Amino acid sequence: MASDHVIETEGLTKEFKGFRAVNNVRLRVARGTIHALIGPNGAGKTTCFNLITKFLQPTTGRILYNGRDITAMKPHDVARLGLVRSFQISAVFPHLTVLENVRVALQRTLGTSYHFWKPETSVAVLDDRAMDLLEQVGVESYAHLQAVELPYGRKRALEIATTLALDPEMLLLDEPMAGMGREDIRRISDLIRRVAANRTVLMVEHNLSVVADLSDRITVLARGEILAEGSYEEVSSNPAVVEAYMGT
Ligand code: ADP
Repeated sequence: MASDHVIETEGLTKEFKGFRAVNNVRLRVARGTIHALIGPNGAGKTTCFNLITKFLQPTTGRILYNGRDITAMKPHDVARLGLVRSFQISAVFPHLTVLENVRVALQRTLGTSYHFWKPETSVAVLDDRAMDLLEQVGVESYAHLQAVELPYGRKRALEIATTLALDPEMLLLDEPMAGMGREDIRRISDLIRRVAANRTVLMVEHNLSVVADLSDRITVLARGEILAEGSYEEVSSNPAVVEAYMGT
């Protein structure tokens, strides 16, 4: 039976030259939720995120994905299982068009089963699917522009489209709103909500009004440890959380 938690970490610990950036963290992300990881600067959010997406190897502890131990796996292997990290700007090829970027992502997903001579994987069919994805993220009118020409918020929407091409079960978003104005924040929030309708989302986000608006559940980290967990109302009224934020 599938676990209720898509992600579960046990005793997750990461040391950098003896310094514990993440200390004995038990993070559980429930299926179908938007879960935010917050905390003051230096709390260990990015390290935690990199451990879960397998960009870093823990010093000790385990990471379970749908009950399966992925601790020893590589990022591309966990991506193949459906655990996909977005917002790596490098995932977008600046001089390909917006449409070509998504087509390339689809071709990559098809991997060895991709054969250009098969009708179901012809460029025309892939471009139909790519246009669908571009519509889902609201950048279809930019399809024939080079990715480099996109406004910043639209580029991030394109990154989501290339991520959705992998048909992930779980999306991990690293500061999805970083550097965005109010209009882009509203648009990307709507997009995340739509994407999360049939997926699980874990995000690290600094903008607390975005966190309040989007998250079903929040984990607050401080000094590498879990300080509080719960709804936004619960964690934001927790004196220990208020103190941790004020101390920075
Ligand atoms: P956050 O994302 O919450 O701001 P980080 O996970 O980036 O926190 O960092 C947590 C702590 O670990 C910080 O004190 C940071 O300086 C330290 N740290 C992070 N990465 C490294 C590294 N590669 N080498 C040494 N120290 C690191």
